[in-house]
Amino acid sequence: MQALCKLTNDSPDVLCPVCGKGFRLYWERSSSAQQQAALPEIHQALRDHHKENPFAQHPEVPFNVPSWSGLPQFSAAALLGGAA
Ligand SMILES: [Zn+2]
Repeated sequence: MQALCKLTNDSPDVLCPVCGKGFRLYWERSSSAQQQAALPEIHQALRDHHKENPFAQHPEVPFNVPSWSGLPQFSAAALLGGAA
C-alpha cells in the first residue's frame, strides 16, 4: 500500500508526531481499512525525517511511503490518489 505525502497547511490528513506539521495523503487504494493499516508506517516515516537531526525539516516536495525510487508525481499513489 503506497501513499504520497504532501506538506500542507490546511486540512491535513495526518500530523507529524514529532513537529506537528500536517500532510495531505494520496492513496494508491481507496479502501479506508487499508489506509488505516498503513498509517503507522507513515508516522514512522515522518519520525525518520527527524531521526538524524532534530532540526531536520520534512521534504518540501511530495514523497512516497514506502519510499519509491521513481519520481513521486509518477507513483501509483500520486496517479491513483489524484495528486497530479
Ligand atoms: Zn515533523
